[in-house]
Amino acid sequence: MKKGLILLLMAVSQLSFGQYRCATENPEGSTHRPSAPAGMTVEGRSVITIPLVVHIVWHTQEENLSEAQVQSQADVLNADFRALNTEIPSVPAVFAAAVADMEIEFCLVATTRTQTPYAGIANLYANGQRRVCHTALGGRDAIDPAHYLNVWVSARNDGACGDGTFPENPQAPAGEQGVFIRPDCFGTAGTAAPPFNLGRTTTHEIGHYLNLKHLWGEGLEDPLCQSDDMVEDTEEQAYSYSDYTGQDCPTHPSFSCGSADMFMNFMNLPADRCMAMFTHGQKERAWDAIATFRPGLLESSCMPVGLQEAAPGDTPPLLAQNPASGEIALLLAEKEEYEIAIFDAAGRLVFSEPNASGTIYRISPDMFINGIYYIKIRNGRKIHTKKLIIAR
Ligand SMILES: [Zn+2]
Repeated sequence: MKKGLILLLMAVSQLSFGQYRCATENPEGSTHRPSAPAGMTVEGRSVITIPLVVHIVWHTQEENLSEAQVQSQADVLNADFRALNTEIPSVPAVFAAAVADMEIEFCLVATTRTQTPYAGIANLYANGQRRVCHTALGGRDAIDPAHYLNVWVSARNDGACGDGTFPENPQAPAGEQGVFIRPDCFGTAGTAAPPFNLGRTTTHEIGHYLNLKHLWGEGLEDPLCQSDDMVEDTEEQAYSYSDYTGQDCPTHPSFSCGSADMFMNFMNLPADRCMAMFTHGQKERAWDAIATFRPGLLESSCMPVGLQEAAPGDTPPLLAQNPASGEIALLLAEKEEYEIAIFDAAGRLVFSEPNASGTIYRISPDMFINGIYYIKIRNGRKIHTKKLIIAR
């Protein structure tokens, strides 16, 4: 009876305040623990670095977050996944040995910004496709999802702060894999609002992206202790702690399923400031998931998107565009001089530089309106022509 009442109150509070952390559903048939195939190993690495692409898909100006707010989120991830967050000392002694440095770091390689006509686009679908993940549907296409973790930051109309895709989720095609975070639950600066203002929604949803389940297992709660998160050093627990979004955090010890609950684990749902840790078992499961399901992350680099290092055999000049800054860059051969001219689609000269040199020549995109351009680069008697698309 009492449990029924608690569940009912939680459901009501979620509906009336529109505030709960996570709308991720466990995929069906995902209860086996993955193991890395032979030959694909992450052994020998001390740290895995995952490059992030952040897509701001905004409807109201307030949702068009500052770059500082985006950076504040990256900073939180680099603390939480390295056990460098300030809450670690508050972890009860009984769980201290379980605290893990996940040895996963994140680098921000691009931020894209897209205005959308759709309010609450993050959980809107059109013919089974998730709108926010598709430029043609009012969102923004993923960038190379095999090699980058795509993070869509946009409003939603289900009251959740976010959701993330499990790696073996058949419901989410490659272009819709990633995490989805509401702007006011993102980062620690700007519009981030309590109780989800310390960036932990993104920490939690990336946990799902790396195959980590909620500590209580399946469903919204597990009062009968029937399911598990498939991690050994997180004891079985019944509840999500999602009702702890006010002044108080849960207090230790809080028992369910015959043991004290690790309510401060990032894969629970209390307020951001009540969360503190991942465990060694979760680290093992996440590393296995990367090796098994997301091996492309191991091959990617932190070079800004569009400003990739030249591959062997490529010869300068190379044109690169960096969506993070809107910058256009030309990678040139050292100690050579180049003449650069840019023409618009009608063939009018819109930019010229008779003596460009250095290994990288940068051109501000501010002087161009959106459209297609042709860039002509002359080096001695060689002339290279490349197409340039300016889209912001
Ligand atoms: Zn969740």
